[in-house]
Amino acid sequence: MSVKLIKKLETVYVARCQWVVGRGADGADITGHGLTWQRESPDDALIIIEEHAAKTYAIPGTEETRPYHVWVERVTRYRDGSEESVTVREHNRPAPQSYGTIWVCMDCMLHHANGECGGCHEGHDEEPLSSIGDGFHVAMGMALIDHAEGCLWRELASRSPRQGDPALDDYECDCDTNTYSTSQCEGCGSWLHGERHAMTLFKD
Ligand SMILES: [Zn+2]
Ligand SMILES: [Zn+2]
Ligand SMILES: [Zn+2]
Repeated sequence: MSVKLIKKLETVYVARCQWVVGRGADGADITGHGLTWQRESPDDALIIIEEHAAKTYAIPGTEETRPYHVWVERVTRYRDGSEESVTVREHNRPAPQSYGTIWVCMDCMLHHANGECGGCHEGHDEEPLSSIGDGFHVAMGMALIDHAEGCLWRELASRSPRQGDPALDDYECDCDTNTYSTSQCEGCGSWLHGERHAMTLFKD
């Protein structure tokens, strides 16, 4: 965190509303710039997005309807022309698009979980998670459909897809760990043989 000594000009609340204006050739959403309202009080900005959050619209060229993606940012403007913004409330954020399972080495997995690994001091073979690319992020574990056929956990979770079902906590499977692999790590590109852990790749 850097300390800012430049004088503050103003703090305002900006309400934003965004929606899908069409679909690309690959079927991906094309999102328009949407609407922006600037208000001096947070309550005025929140009223605007609460109203829009409750409405739905039809995606052009499809039968699909969706709620608007709306959020409020607190924006602080400084005398030097710079500004900082923090999201203070958000509704109907679109789910990130999954790009499937990737298998990463222990260093990548530990960096994702803890921000460091045992190799940080001796030096990494490759910079952990450096192959993920801009505009993508990863989450631990794999999608249900990528679990092995006959995995008991998969079977239970498919039967009762409710999240946080306590019955599921009693079971654990090892689908997301490969104890020895000679394949390249898909997180950093390292060829070092060893453990690989499943992660799911998402587009932001
Ligand atoms: Zn490390
Ligand atoms: Zn499994
Ligand atoms: Zn790696």
